[in-house]
Amino acid sequence: MTFVIGAPCVDIMDRACVEECPVDCIYVGGRMAYIQPTECVDCGACEPVCPVEAIYLDTDMPSDQRQFVAENARFFAEPLPGRTEALGSPGSAAKAGELGVDTPFVQAFTK
Ligand code: SF4
Ligand code: SF4
Repeated sequence: MTFVIGAPCVDIMDRACVEECPVDCIYVGGRMAYIQPTECVDCGACEPVCPVEAIYLDTDMPSDQRQFVAENARFFAEPLPGRTEALGSPGSAAKAGELGVDTPFVQAFTK
């Protein structure tokens, strides 16, 4: 299990969760933030601070947002648009910096 970020974050991304995460595993993309699934320690600290209730345990993700479970993982597992290598597990979102890019699904997502 891991926590994941869903559709309500898109175009909101106020970064409240980023500040809260004790292991710094919430990475800032272009339109939303993404949780690195293998770095997340499932503490749940991020979930209550999100103002738009975008954060869920992967197993609890509402059915109409299921794709976002895959997109959180894909953000790290596959090269992002304009890159040749996958991000993988950088170990620190602060160190990685704001990535400014999204998975193709999120790039094209309309609310
Ligand atoms: S559940 Fe905890 S470790 Fe995982 S992203 Fe949220 S704050 Fe970070
Ligand atoms: S707190 Fe919610 S809206 Fe803000 S960046 Fe995190 S998931 Fe996105």
